[in-house]
Amino acid sequence: MSVKVKDVCEALEELAPLALQESYDNAGLLCGDADMEVKSALLAIDVTEDVVDEAIAKGCNMIISHHPLIFRGLKKITGKSYVERCVVKAIKNDIAIYSSHTNLDKVIGGVNVKMAEKLGLKSLEVLCAEDEALCQIVTFVPRDYVEKVADAMFAAGGGRVSGYDKCSYRVEGIGTFVAGEDCNPFVGKKGEMHYEEETRVEMVVRREYVEQVHQAAILAHPYEEPVIGVYALSYTSASYGLGVVGILEKPMSEIDALKLVKERFKCADVRYSPLLGKEVRRVALCGGSGAEFISLAISKGADLYVTADCKYHEFFNAEGKVLVADIGHFESEQFTKEIFKAYLSEKIPNFVTYYSEVNTNPINHL
Ligand SMILES: [Zn+2]
Repeated sequence: MSVKVKDVCEALEELAPLALQESYDNAGLLCGDADMEVKSALLAIDVTEDVVDEAIAKGCNMIISHHPLIFRGLKKITGKSYVERCVVKAIKNDIAIYSSHTNLDKVIGGVNVKMAEKLGLKSLEVLCAEDEALCQIVTFVPRDYVEKVADAMFAAGGGRVSGYDKCSYRVEGIGTFVAGEDCNPFVGKKGEMHYEEETRVEMVVRREYVEQVHQAAILAHPYEEPVIGVYALSYTSASYGLGVVGILEKPMSEIDALKLVKERFKCADVRYSPLLGKEVRRVALCGGSGAEFISLAISKGADLYVTADCKYHEFFNAEGKVLVADIGHFESEQFTKEIFKAYLSEKIPNFVTYYSEVNTNPINHL
C-alpha cells in the first residue's frame, strides 16, 4: 500500500496535534505536495543543506525534523540564506519537509517524556501544564443519518478524550419544525408542523477543533438548517504542556546526578548553578530553551532542573533552591528522532525511516 505525505502528516498530528504548538512556532508540512507518495523518510533534529543532500543520497523524499526549517515568512527565495537554499533544493528534488516542534514538546510521548525516559524518571507530571479548554457539541439527527454525521464529527476531531476515541452520547427523541415558504425541507411539508424521529448526538471537543467539527456536522447532516449547539465546559483537563517533572529511581548526590545527565545526554560539558548540598530525587526537565521555567521547577519541588540555553543572569534565578543544569539545546533534544521512528513504525507498518547521520549541532566545544 502506498504511503502519501499527508498520511505521514496525519499520523504525526495524531501524536502531536498542530493546535498545541506555541504561537511563535511553525510546525507542520513546510514544503512539498501532500498527495505525493513517500518512498522513505529521513529523521532529523534540524534541516540543513547537508541533511537535504543526505535525503537525496539515501533516496528519501521526505524529511521529518524537530525544528522547523522555516520559522517566519520567506519574502524572497534566492538562495541567500541556508533556509532558502534548503527550500530550493528540497523543491527541485521533490522532497517534502515536515516539522513537529513545540506541539511534540508538549505531549505525552513527546520530547520531554523521552528525556525523562533517558534518565529513568518515574511518576511523571507536566511541568508547565496548559489547561485544555473543552466544549460539548450537540446536534439532532434523523435516525438513518446518525452514523454518518457522528463519523464526520469524529474525523474532524470530536469525541477524543485522553486515550479514548469516538466518544459520544446518543439519546432518541422527537424533533419538530415548520418549514417556511422559501425553505427546501429534507422531510415534511412546507407550512405544516412536522414530527421527526431524531437522535440527539453529543460529544466533547477541544476548543481548537470546535470550528472544524461544527463544519463537518453541517456538511454531513441531511437537514438544510441543522441545529448544532456548542457549550463551553467549565471543566478542563491538563494533560499536556512544556516540560515534565519526575522522580529518580534512587536518590543520588548532586554531582552524581549531574554526571548521570552528562553521560545519558552525551554532553561535552554541563553548565550548572551553585550546588545546594542535598540529594537529588525530584527532577524537572525541559528540552530546548527552558530557562523561563526555573521558578516553576522550584515551585514543583524539583531538586534538579535540566534544560538548555540558560543565560548568565538566568542562573541566578535558581535562588539557592534548585540545581539548574544547562546541557545544551541539541543535546537535550537529540533523541527526538527516536520518537519519530518508534511512532511511525508502529503507526504505518512497512514505512521506512532512516536516522540522519549528519550532526546538525551548530555549537562546538573546545
Ligand atoms: Zn529545540
